[in-house]
Amino acid sequence: MSGALPSRPTASEFALAIRRTVLELSRRANVGHIGSCLSVADILAAFYGGVLRIEDPDAEERDRFLLSKGHAALALYAALHLRGWVTEEQLDSFGRNGTALGVHPEHVVPGIDFCSGSLGHGLSVGAGSALAARMQSSGRRVFVLMSDAELNEGSTWEAVMFAAHQRISNLVAIVDWNRQQALGYTKDVLDVDQPAERWKAFGWDVVEVDGHDIEEMVRCARSLDFSPGGRPHALIARTTFGKGVSFMESQIKWHYWPMSETEFSQAMTEVGVRP
Ligand SMILES: [Mg+2]
Repeated sequence: MSGALPSRPTASEFALAIRRTVLELSRRANVGHIGSCLSVADILAAFYGGVLRIEDPDAEERDRFLLSKGHAALALYAALHLRGWVTEEQLDSFGRNGTALGVHPEHVVPGIDFCSGSLGHGLSVGAGSALAARMQSSGRRVFVLMSDAELNEGSTWEAVMFAAHQRISNLVAIVDWNRQQALGYTKDVLDVDQPAERWKAFGWDVVEVDGHDIEEMVRCARSLDFSPGGRPHALIARTTFGKGVSFMESQIKWHYWPMSETEFSQAMTEVGVRP
């Protein structure tokens, strides 16, 4: 299992801890979605390490974070563990019989605000949650991490239009722009190129960022204007699927495929951890 981290881990330590947990637990549980988890490891490190106001899971005023691409749940569990919301024992139960920590997230887990995995729903729920915060005069913000393939879903664009029309400025969509999906590359399945232009055309404030540059993402998120009545925000995060493991990077196979022991050993070495 993951080793102990300093009380204030650096951004790179936070991201490395997520990758280590993803590799160790996906190997032990013999499950896939490894490439998707590695794609968002740095995004989660940025937001859970330096952006979200989430000191207390039970605080009504804390920020909300929805993992719309629910199949990357293991990376989210790792981040929640690093923030102290998921215990070491709970994390170690991942994929075992009777666990609350399955391959897709359940809202019974502290910090999981919405069950996800059925794609294309997260932004709609996030828009509603952010609108509710505004109606309650709450300062909480809502962040939705979604896959680029979710831009294939009509429900996503309904939410995009709704949030812009309602000027829900406390809503942030983070698009994991890794240009591939379960069974192919997005350009071949249903091309949604120039995502920034698309979101801008729908009335959103849009910023393109390097989804593996944690400092840049933190700086960008902290500079967003959450003033009431402003535009909702989209961060188009350019990422590499399977980031950090050479034989997984940009390879469709690693959406579903589990690792062999040899592959696990190589992956751990490549991300900088000795198995
Ligand atoms: Mg994708």
